[in-house]
Amino acid sequence: MPVLGRDVTVPLVTGGEVTYAALDYAASAPALQRVWDDVAAYAPYYGSVHRGAGYLSQLSTDLFESSRATVHAFLDCREDDQVVFTRSTTDSLNLLAGALPGGCEVFVFETEHHASLLPWTDARVTYLDAPRTPQQAVRALESALSGRDLGAPALVCVTGASNVTGELWPVRELAAVSHAHGARIVLDAAQLAPHHPVSVRKLGVDWVAFSGHKLYAPFGSGVLAGRADWLRDAEPYLAGGGASRKVSRRAGGGVDVEWHTTAARHEAGSPNVIGVYAIASACRALTEAGFDALVDRERHLVEKVLAGLAEVPGVRVLSLFGGGTPSASGGRTPARVGVVSFVVEGWNSSHLAAALSAEYGIGVRDGLFCAHPLVRTLLGGDPQQPGECGAPEGERGERGETGVRPAEGAGAPLNAIRVSFGAGT
Ligand code: PMP
Repeated sequence: MPVLGRDVTVPLVTGGEVTYAALDYAASAPALQRVWDDVAAYAPYYGSVHRGAGYLSQLSTDLFESSRATVHAFLDCREDDQVVFTRSTTDSLNLLAGALPGGCEVFVFETEHHASLLPWTDARVTYLDAPRTPQQAVRALESALSGRDLGAPALVCVTGASNVTGELWPVRELAAVSHAHGARIVLDAAQLAPHHPVSVRKLGVDWVAFSGHKLYAPFGSGVLAGRADWLRDAEPYLAGGGASRKVSRRAGGGVDVEWHTTAARHEAGSPNVIGVYAIASACRALTEAGFDALVDRERHLVEKVLAGLAEVPGVRVLSLFGGGTPSASGGRTPARVGVVSFVVEGWNSSHLAAALSAEYGIGVRDGLFCAHPLVRTLLGGDPQQPGECGAPEGERGERGETGVRPAEGAGAPLNAIRVSFGAGT
């Protein structure tokens, strides 16, 4: 399978080599060639932004700020929404967690990726049980929010597309329910934005977060976009240069600081201008390719993967919303992006993943995908049991040792295997 026109050849333990099939886009998608080309064209000219009268600094400042405008347009933000550049989705959600107004309650489904589940430690958090249909999710949120004090601030955090099942969440409906109960909502679009158009206006969400490295740009840059007020009223995410407008010694000791009220308030330090430029390049590439075509192509690939898996004895595709494994003759295909997780009866997923890599050159992910409560529920285990992010210690076969494949014992499987793909696959 070509990787966006850049074939990578890998050796196999069985001898010979094969074109590598990268099927772990949900972890990090290979950057588009177009993005590498844009970055390479700009790289000789980069300079530090907002800090110099020199040509390179001016050029970099222009590209940095025009990248902000590109992301604003890509997300179809409201006119006065802010786009803050961060390091990743995790970083964006931690930034927002630090910007919650005093007394803010947070509502989050236990099925979230840890990046959306965990940052809210300073707030009163209500964890909602795993819903088994999108409608159940909306009803569960409605009942959790009803009766709350409408005067107190509240935030709902929800993922747009699961990094485990690929299933789409009813974001627009959840946003409507949140607003009807005086709460705001942040969308974790880490898995949604690379596959579907995300319109802040149409979905009605207050903030959206995503990562460059899942959106066909390289590592190191991410986005938090949305309402300016909470961000403007919060302490800066990092204290330092770039976030401060004026700093002066206070008579009698200490310093007085006037912080920026724009996105710069949360972008202290020298920003990752190349990473930001790469995100903007990826946004342009996706927009030009057209999401209609991308969604169609991906739907076709998802159906192919599900139909192929349905023919393998013992495969169980993981699904929260009941898509299950369609029959090979074509059952109902659940609404999901190019992310499919499964277990194979009697097989240890980590050994299977190691074998796929070493013997076939297919790169997949195994483990609990940083969504332990969700995966434990889907595997039929106890969501309250702790898990490990990757393969359990000592479980992953070393390269070349894939001949040993002990069957799993009785009980729920320990972990799952995931294939994920997207534009250009
Ligand atoms: N949310 C979801 C749904 C994800 O899949 C991921 C990454 N697997 C994240 C958040 C975190 O993204 P990052 O590691 O880039 O911060």
